[in-house]
Amino acid sequence: MATLVNVDGDIVPPAQARVSVFDRGFLYGDSVYEVIRTYRGQPFELDAHLARLAHSAERIGLAPPWDAPRTAREIGRTLAAARAAGGDPAPAPDAAPWNVGEWYVRVVMTRGAGEIGLDPALAVNPAAVVIVQPLPAPPASAYVEGVKAVVVGVRHAPAAVVDPSAKTGAHLNHVLAVREARARGAHEALLLDERGFVTEGSSSNVFVVAGGRVRTPPLAAGILEGVTRGVVLRLARAEGIPMDEVPLRPPELEAADEVFITSTMREIVPVTRLGERAVGAGRPGPVTARLHRAFRRLAGGPPSAMLG
Ligand code: PMP
Repeated sequence: MATLVNVDGDIVPPAQARVSVFDRGFLYGDSVYEVIRTYRGQPFELDAHLARLAHSAERIGLAPPWDAPRTAREIGRTLAAARAAGGDPAPAPDAAPWNVGEWYVRVVMTRGAGEIGLDPALAVNPAAVVIVQPLPAPPASAYVEGVKAVVVGVRHAPAAVVDPSAKTGAHLNHVLAVREARARGAHEALLLDERGFVTEGSSSNVFVVAGGRVRTPPLAAGILEGVTRGVVLRLARAEGIPMDEVPLRPPELEAADEVFITSTMREIVPVTRLGERAVGAGRPGPVTARLHRAFRRLAGGPPSAMLG
């Protein structure tokens, strides 16, 4: 397994992967991206990710250099090249079994380089990049023991500032949210909107369980429509677990029996500490574990290590 980068169709090792310093992705975060992972070597929910990439590009008026079929082909070529490059690293001793031997795929499309200036019309040469690397995923302990999350002081950008349904490279407030979370010893930062409602994690969607019902903020809360969030909503329906998309405030997080976060890289991870307080019994709860078992069945491979 090797890290390889596809830059505009040329597959090269990381040290040779270059884009211009005049690229607007570098200068302004004027780009869109997706993070996809594999199961048994195959990209998971690829169509949903490619549809969201097209949506993100459309929302910011970026003409994608590759269409969806070409993007899928380039991802496939890059994965095949990385697999063929061999030199597999030994799996981390604490890796969850379903993450061993799998791949992380990041697709970035920028508006391109051009004369310096904010005007998007200055952009020429839109760039497309695919980064493929061995999957860096949470250790098994994250699923068995849960993780700590904190509600950070950094607020979520209002929908009127940056359309939250577009996954763009303009990410500074989430970088600062993670910085704050790490300083407080937490795995994930949870962001509030300017009115104090819970939105999402820095790179995850958030759910609470109270009295057997699952609740998560609605898309109207100004959040990314997470692909994993969508999978979890479908799984809850199939499992007969009541699920409400409703606005949440921090006291509802603190009073919840269970809290969990979802993302492509993490699947479903229990949050067992919120700041300095335990969530519920301080262990992954039964509803989170049930949903993770269902997720593991859907994605295939080893069963959930979550006890619940
Ligand atoms: N919200 C934000 C802000 C994110 O960056 C991510 C990660 N892509 C998510 C939610 C989770 O989305 P997904 O399940 O599609 O990875």
